[in-house]
Amino acid sequence: MKLFQTVAILKNKGSSKMSNYNVKSLKAEEFISDTEILETIKYAEENKNNIELINSILEKARPRKTESGTVCAGLNHREASVLLACENKEIIEKMYALAREIKQTFYGNRIVMFAPLYLSNYCVNGCVYCPYHMQNKHIARKKLTQEEVKAEVIALQDMGHKRLAIEAGEDPKNNPIEYILECIDTIYSIKHKNGAIRRVNVNIAATTVENYRKLKDAGIGTYILFQETYHKESYEELHPTGPKHNYAYHTEAMDRAMEGGIDDVGLGVLFGLEKYKYEFAGLLMHAEHLEAVHGVGPHTISVPRLKRADDIDPDQFDNGLADDIFEKIIACIRIAVPYTGMIISTRESQEVRERVLELGVSQISGASRTSVGGYTEEERPHDSEQFDVSDQRTLDEVVNWLMKNGHIPSFCTACYREGRTGDRFMSLCKTGQIINCCHPNALMTLTEYLVDYASEETKKIGFELIDKELEKVSNPKAKELAKQNVVDIKASNRRDFRF
Ligand code: SAM
Repeated sequence: MKLFQTVAILKNKGSSKMSNYNVKSLKAEEFISDTEILETIKYAEENKNNIELINSILEKARPRKTESGTVCAGLNHREASVLLACENKEIIEKMYALAREIKQTFYGNRIVMFAPLYLSNYCVNGCVYCPYHMQNKHIARKKLTQEEVKAEVIALQDMGHKRLAIEAGEDPKNNPIEYILECIDTIYSIKHKNGAIRRVNVNIAATTVENYRKLKDAGIGTYILFQETYHKESYEELHPTGPKHNYAYHTEAMDRAMEGGIDDVGLGVLFGLEKYKYEFAGLLMHAEHLEAVHGVGPHTISVPRLKRADDIDPDQFDNGLADDIFEKIIACIRIAVPYTGMIISTRESQEVRERVLELGVSQISGASRTSVGGYTEEERPHDSEQFDVSDQRTLDEVVNWLMKNGHIPSFCTACYREGRTGDRFMSLCKTGQIINCCHPNALMTLTEYLVDYASEETKKIGFELIDKELEKVSNPKAKELAKQNVVDIKASNRRDFRF
């Protein structure tokens, strides 16, 4: 990512306010500078019809072949904001084509699969958009016991999941860090039939460096924390009570996570709370900040949109996003941060997911239940769901649909288990070695899924796809080994092959 280097001296046109922007500062209000965001939006608006500039920005972002592999320059928040502001249909089509090309270059046609696991909906915060807020007295509060965690994990393994994102409300009494750590241990310990959870990502409230270190030692994958909104004043209004009210503590959490040794962090905005152009610039400035300070940008970016839930009505919020704007945001993120994975959840419908998969999304959840204990209940529970799930298909249906649309569903968790986190993962991406590493890993883990969990129809489509895709592995040794491993998985209970 090319950094936007102008620091602290930008003068606001039309006002005497000096910008306090400093990408390397550790203070939230300096690396997410309100003045810089407003200047960026103004600059983007002034240039949204500047075709020459826009073409040069697109040109800069294009993948380029070098001696050490294909590289992409990425865009800074100002350049990317110009693309986002552009309303010219032809140029938007060009942007979408470029987003597709970048996704293809660095992530191929693989889509990583995961599921959320809700541990507890006890929460002491007052987030006005979330049904877990403390004032909600009629929602059924629940916290999984270790026996219940086990039952949920077995249900998830029986579907074929290998990668989870654990979720919990913030409540130091009911969900202290010790509880989260115990759950992680339980999850990793369960080996049911050929199943295993091999990567646990964690989405819990902002915490201390010491607690991040404990999470790192527990073997977590990515630490995910959504900023919700980068707009400080709105943030404080939307989080009127509880520890989450503290904007600086929340915004600086990723710096503490990285100080605690966590290499892979996942950013996100809850779209619908504030104006999207503001959020978009803030999100990219956050990514630039992590790269400038820690030498590695975010591992993933999530793009949740506000949804209906228990006592939450999205129509009460003014900034709902139309699908076409949502798609443009996703394409612009893909172009701006080419090496960052992008995640879309079952908050979105099959139709929207189908479109954004073409614009750069690289990870999706499948068959999600957003209630505590939801995977072991017969009926879809609604009493404690965090938000309504739009895409309610089974994992088999999602896998089948992905393959019919030309994607390879991947259950791979190899990178972090092989120590390829942070900048080591990025360099794999940048040198193009993904085709000899992630590609066979995706095909081997998909074989596991098909053999152990898939319906006959999904198996048929999948095995044909795998045979075809194995031929794309360019290194002859890797290709031979991957082919042999696929044969072994089909013929025996040997599992967990990886490069
Ligand atoms: N409690 C943790 C925290 O405060 O960051 C994280 C867990 S929370 C279960 C996960 C995310 O769900 C939140 O960060 C928020 O963005 C999202 N969320 C909350 N209410 C939502 C709603 N009504 N629709 C869509 N997403 C929602």
